[in-house]
Amino acid sequence: MGLLRLLVIVVVIWLALSVIKWLRHRVIKERNTRSAPEVTRMVRCAYCGLYVTSDEAVRAGDQTFCSSEHKASLNRNHSS
Ligand SMILES: [Zn+2]
Repeated sequence: MGLLRLLVIVVVIWLALSVIKWLRHRVIKERNTRSAPEVTRMVRCAYCGLYVTSDEAVRAGDQTFCSSEHKASLNRNHSS
């Protein structure tokens, strides 16, 4: 009976370690996938539909534009 109990304990410890290992692996993987698109995030110009990086994009509220000219063009269209 003692040997069986020891075997159960060993299996439980092994399972716990496996779960910890798996969770760690998943967290690292999630971090990598989360940080990668942040660098090369593309946003669409609301005026011409061109895709530009979020660094280059001109923002107006929740809309993004490829240039300040297109931002101004859309504002002009809305007012007229
Ligand atoms: Zn544009």
